[in-house]
Amino acid sequence: MAGRYGDAVSPTAARPRRRDPAAGWTPPSRARVLRVRERLREVYGIPLMRPHGDPIAELILTVLSQSTNDRNRDVAYLRLRERFATWEAVRDAPVTEVEEAIRPGGISKVKSARIQAILGAISASSPEGDRPGAPAGSAASRADRELSLSWLRDAPLEHARDYLVSLPGVGRKTAACVLLFAYGLHDVPVDTHVSRVGMRLRLLRPGAPFEELHDQMLALTPPAQGLELHVNLLRHGRRTCHARSPACGECALARMCPSRDNFA
Ligand code: SF4
Repeated sequence: MAGRYGDAVSPTAARPRRRDPAAGWTPPSRARVLRVRERLREVYGIPLMRPHGDPIAELILTVLSQSTNDRNRDVAYLRLRERFATWEAVRDAPVTEVEEAIRPGGISKVKSARIQAILGAISASSPEGDRPGAPAGSAASRADRELSLSWLRDAPLEHARDYLVSLPGVGRKTAACVLLFAYGLHDVPVDTHVSRVGMRLRLLRPGAPFEELHDQMLALTPPAQGLELHVNLLRHGRRTCHARSPACGECALARMCPSRDNFA
């Protein structure tokens, strides 16, 4: 086969070689994780957020946060809480009323149906208190149970996580948000910022699917430091390590980042 200038090249050799960013990746040492954490701490401090103790609110907030910004999410959430006194009232309302309440958060038709599906699934699986007069364990007795996920706090962590991801539309990130932000349990949400920064720093395997990223993040995070790592990686992603044009020249982590030359 003749090449552009008449030299003989093989079909394989004609293709440009692409560097596999994940090639040679190994999980980071504990010392490296701690160095990254320290550097982030110097820049962003230690986030102070007490667990708020409301797992259902956290679930609903994560649904509302999809495809919108924090401000619109919060407006939608406040309108929902003002309109309905309880989560049971949200569950039992006509879906159009829920949709109207959360409209400022965008894609309200999808989100209202998702919220009611989640609340219905929690009712259906609730181990707490049948409705008086209804046969124990029947669908009727489950339908209007008081909604509660307080049992998650004391359940084995794996069981709590498995339960959450069994709810409609709930994945590992949402489950981690609930466990971490509601109860301070050991989990770390890996969102788009955390995954991007984590991969560029090679804390996480480049190209890994989200399920694997959550497992890796859990494995590398020291006990009781999930909140700090999550929040500070996210801040770094928003402020410096942008998706398209990371500001490597101003980055406090540049000296320890294997990706800095990729964006020169
Ligand atoms: S050096 Fe660049 S790629 Fe690495 S963390 Fe900083 S901004 Fe991101």
